[in-house]
Amino acid sequence: MKQYDYLIVGAGLYGAVFAHEAKKAGKRCLVIDKRAHIAGNIYTEEVEGINVHRYGAHIFHTNNKAVWQYVNQFAEFNRYTNSPVANYHGEIYNLPFNMNTFNRMWGVVTPAEAKAKIEQQRAEAGITEPKNLEEQAISLVGTDIYEKLIKGYTGKQWGRPCTELPAFIIKRLPVRFTYDDNYFNALYQGIPNGGYTAMVEKMLDGVEVRLGVDYLAEKAELDKLADRVVYTGPVDAYFGYKLGALQYRSVRFETETLDTDNYQGNAVVNYTDAETPYTRIIEHKHFEFGTQPKTVISREYSAEWKPGDEPYYPVNDEKNGALYAEYKKLADAEPGVIFGGRLGEYKYYDMDKVIEVALDVVGRELA
Ligand code: UDP
Repeated sequence: MKQYDYLIVGAGLYGAVFAHEAKKAGKRCLVIDKRAHIAGNIYTEEVEGINVHRYGAHIFHTNNKAVWQYVNQFAEFNRYTNSPVANYHGEIYNLPFNMNTFNRMWGVVTPAEAKAKIEQQRAEAGITEPKNLEEQAISLVGTDIYEKLIKGYTGKQWGRPCTELPAFIIKRLPVRFTYDDNYFNALYQGIPNGGYTAMVEKMLDGVEVRLGVDYLAEKAELDKLADRVVYTGPVDAYFGYKLGALQYRSVRFETETLDTDNYQGNAVVNYTDAETPYTRIIEHKHFEFGTQPKTVISREYSAEWKPGDEPYYPVNDEKNGALYAEYKKLADAEPGVIFGGRLGEYKYYDMDKVIEVALDVVGRELA
């Protein structure tokens, strides 16, 4: 009999949910993480009394009531509603694309006028069936918005032209013919008071966690400890990149503490032109309505992932999708190992989906 039922590789959201549920069912779990801290990419760290989202802003939002109730066991959520603004060469537009955006762009006032404008631009561009992100964007919001708010930002974010990206990426954003600036079409939304790290700490309460442990470097030894493995790292790294490397986008954060109480007046400002080298600036205190005398901001620079970088976004184009399908076959055939999460499943997951899937998988596992 081995020492643990489950070795959970990665102390991020997927690993923490799995571990919490397995422990609750009486299973012996060991969670390990390569990093020196828990919570994966939702890790927050306090600076000047402000919870700084170290690996990029995370705004919890969901339509799934069960998932909302689930996370509320571990934290109290505030009423933060994401309403980013776009800065295009100094012109400010509300996001997501809504009547405020259309009014600022074209001077239109009614939904009917906005729809007519978009339809006219879509027709002029001659798009009937959108084949890629550019065509999808133009057909949803017209050429002007595509040029000013999407083309430059998306090019920077993905390092590829919009003509080479799948349409679904832009469908993440709502298009609304109301004056509603809420970025998400979600029934439930907020930021956990006290930060995500505290929330994950609660999930992992009573679970053994070892930090600074590199699973792939010590795989043979670690595998001896547990009957089953839950692996949430990059799927291609698990298999030694033997079919080739999947592509990821990485993000570099330039974080600064500033001696002002309010730098940009909003948590998220997207720089949607192609020239500004960063994609957006996050001012962390605004996620929690902070009144501290100082502020902390992070500029986000998007880059192609290379070995040694942190992988953030899977690149969901055809080539990578096909390669992942091959890795998925290997993963499915790997005895005693469950692959999960954004990196383990090479999927552009939001937090609520990660929880939903982790709960489903652990539920079936323990059944
Ligand atoms: N996007 C854009 N302009 C913006 C914000 C987003 O064109 O000002 C596009 C871009 O292609 C991006 C996608 O919408 O990759 C999804 O944006 P989201 O904010 O959901 O990305 P995340 O927060 O996950 O990085």
